[in-house]
Amino acid sequence: MTTATQVGPVLLAAGARTDVGKTRKHNEDSFLCEAPVFLVADGMGGYSAGEVASALVVEEFRSLVQADAVDARGLREALDRAASAVAALDGVAEGAGTTVAGVSLAAVDGVGYWVVINVGDSRTYRLHRGQLEQISVDHSVVQELVDSGELTAEQARVDSRRNMVTRAVGAGAPGEPDFWMVPVERGDRIVICSDGLSGEVPDPEIEQLLVDTQDPQAAADALVERALDSGGRDNVTVVVVDAVEVADAAHEGPDDDTVPRETSEVG
Ligand code: MN
Repeated sequence: MTTATQVGPVLLAAGARTDVGKTRKHNEDSFLCEAPVFLVADGMGGYSAGEVASALVVEEFRSLVQADAVDARGLREALDRAASAVAALDGVAEGAGTTVAGVSLAAVDGVGYWVVINVGDSRTYRLHRGQLEQISVDHSVVQELVDSGELTAEQARVDSRRNMVTRAVGAGAPGEPDFWMVPVERGDRIVICSDGLSGEVPDPEIEQLLVDTQDPQAAADALVERALDSGGRDNVTVVVVDAVEVADAAHEGPDDDTVPRETSEVG
């Protein structure tokens, strides 16, 4: 079901869907789709460790959804609490860890911003004026090989090392998050997904489905269905968030001045 919520200057509409996929026994993905925080967490670790870790992280961020708007500091503090909770699983759920990726809606002087947070290889994209761009940068072995020119992005998607993350919350990996601040424009669509989508469906197909499907819940459903049709070899989770209306007309101009910028505001 699509839900609509006013957060400061922005009217948001959002929908989400998760599926265990066609080959896995358990769904280790978790998500949060409650304004102003939207997240995907892809758990890892044997037995039920991954499920426990991703659910714990989402629960820590759920404490933020009472707020009107959540800035990078709020996300950072929730992540720190989540990391402590996952660390406390040691000895209970060995090797438990999770990715975390997503956005909060922040308001600075009455202007809306997407605050993007990332640890690991789940992804945050923005569909902006009909074009899909990946905002987050994966913390993964194959991303490092793309950066060094050894693989193309499309080769990385099917490389045998594609599941090796270089950062995570827990799992003995460094958990340092990256942040980006992106001014919200009316019509922006944010898409957050686990690698069960991005590993199965090439970006141009994701873009086309997003352009063709207006309702955010219907878009999340369509993307998950496409991942299942493509093999569904992993758990797949998609959260779609639309900026339906933006009160500040200054951010609806024709100039494209909203290139995502990495921020060092926190961390
Ligand atoms: Mn996964």
